[in-house]
Amino acid sequence: MSLSNRVLYVDLSEATSKVVERPDLFQKYIGGAGVASKLLLDEAPAKIDPFSPDAPIIIASSPLTTVLPCVVKAVAMFKSPLTGNLGETHAAGYFPSALSLAGYSALVIKGASAEPVALVINDSDVKIRKASSLWGLSPLQVEQALGSFGEGGLHSVISCGAAGENFVHYSNVVVDRYHHFGRMGLGAIFGSKRLKAISVDGAEGVELTNPLTIRDYYEKVYQSIVGTDLMVKYHDYGTPANVLSLNEMGALPTENFRKTRFEDAEKISGETIAENRLERKISCASCPIACVHLADVKDEFSPSHERGRRELFKESRLVPYNYEPMYALGSNLRVSDYDGLLRLIGVCEELGLDVMTAGNILGWVTEAFEKGLIGEGETGGLKPVWGDSTTYVEMLRRISSARRSPFYSTLARGLDPAAEKYGGKDFAVSLGGNGPAGYMTGYGSIAGTVVGARHSHLSNSGYSYDESNLGKEFDAEKIADYLIEQEDWLYIIYSLGVCYFARKVYDKMIVSKMLAAIGIEYTPENLGELGREISHNLLKYKFQEGFRMDTVKIPKRLLEPVTPWGRLDEGKLKQIIASYIRKREKEGVKIKGEDVALKDLLSIR
Ligand code: SF4
Repeated sequence: MSLSNRVLYVDLSEATSKVVERPDLFQKYIGGAGVASKLLLDEAPAKIDPFSPDAPIIIASSPLTTVLPCVVKAVAMFKSPLTGNLGETHAAGYFPSALSLAGYSALVIKGASAEPVALVINDSDVKIRKASSLWGLSPLQVEQALGSFGEGGLHSVISCGAAGENFVHYSNVVVDRYHHFGRMGLGAIFGSKRLKAISVDGAEGVELTNPLTIRDYYEKVYQSIVGTDLMVKYHDYGTPANVLSLNEMGALPTENFRKTRFEDAEKISGETIAENRLERKISCASCPIACVHLADVKDEFSPSHERGRRELFKESRLVPYNYEPMYALGSNLRVSDYDGLLRLIGVCEELGLDVMTAGNILGWVTEAFEKGLIGEGETGGLKPVWGDSTTYVEMLRRISSARRSPFYSTLARGLDPAAEKYGGKDFAVSLGGNGPAGYMTGYGSIAGTVVGARHSHLSNSGYSYDESNLGKEFDAEKIADYLIEQEDWLYIIYSLGVCYFARKVYDKMIVSKMLAAIGIEYTPENLGELGREISHNLLKYKFQEGFRMDTVKIPKRLLEPVTPWGRLDEGKLKQIIASYIRKREKEGVKIKGEDVALKDLLSIR
């Protein structure tokens, strides 16, 4: 088989599928984010309800998936129920590779089934199978129940949990047990379509037209990855090492972003967990780094399972952990015992919840309870207090339940609806509807999250600007330039399917030569233009859906704690956003809304 240009279109309402060859699409947009953004613009009706059957799920991988080291990510795009505009989330595990080996580079899923179903792809055999028996199961149970339908090759299962089935707007889709399409509520979109899971078996090969060129570059890239600090950084302690480094820097969100240092950071650090609970490190397909750390968590069996001496017997399970859940459910909630933290992460895995937004929600709940904005009447008798992981576990279960009270239903819709209804907007830490990542590093991080297409630190690495320019003069223009340059290039990296952690290994020259080896011609300069076009496509989609970056509210809470750049000044943040808008508008993208003049933005200073 040659490199695939094939898009698999699935209609769940009709239980049908068809394959369309789209060489035009892949020649121009490569794969991943580039292809997904074009398909989203083409396939998603404007202003569609995210839960409408006509709202598509797009998933695209790279033509070089499994062929090069760390080229393994797929990109999912959809209308986010959380933000009301672009939903974008990336994942790997084995899924993109299995899809590629089955002969597909993208999926477009529309429609909705009347009963729970699983999409089962076994090379060219595509079936929509009944899955009522899987409804209500955790992603891990689904994976165990589904097994492989193929006769060999690579197998992968992705699935939503109870949170997705019950429309939690920040529910995720778990990939091969330990990986995630984590953000923006893809799980709820699966739930709305009654799509419990996708199982893929790919047993075909990938035939390369230029294998010797690819092999030479493989060696080069492989050595760059395993022979440099990259491997050490992500393999040893992985991103959990950030807990201590960000704490030392004064950039670790703590107590619902009230503070940037956590006095108990050591107790939940990556180093401490590695010493006491680390069981295994695993990799996505074709990655030599193995950054995914799994901790062994032991729980007592329930009384119905063990009637005798329960303390003698423990149930063991592996929980994946990285920096983001450790900040969101750890320091941000003042949870200082690592077993409690791991159990909280574990319940998110079981329910299929985005750990970051879950942590932001619980932070707001705790503070709202502390301030008397909500009481036991709302919480159903629970008393959330900082550090009480047992209560937090119960709250996440109630949020994800089909039989939740009005309070938990509101929480299930996200932070903005909760603060709108109960108050506490000043400390509801969301930017454009999405909870920020755990980097209170300074202006680049916060402004980057506001302007970034996916409201994530991974849109443009704004936190990295903060870290490497510490001690220099604040310069809004420079920060805006950095965010644009990074974002445009990262969208090439994300179109090629390169993992963010390996982004620096794949420079413009290597990417250009790799693409040439598979018949996609882009000079290094032209790649820059393509990256910009992809960014524009994403912005177009967001604005079409009503997003305006000039009106994103920056919660007061983010301006209170001391960051490495001091207390953040709202006027300066607005300067960066205004500068970003001006620069993008010069590129020909209409960023700001019709009725807000740029001078109004600048007058905020
Ligand atoms: S570095 Fe980690 S997330 Fe990236 S491809 Fe490797 S194992 Fe997967």
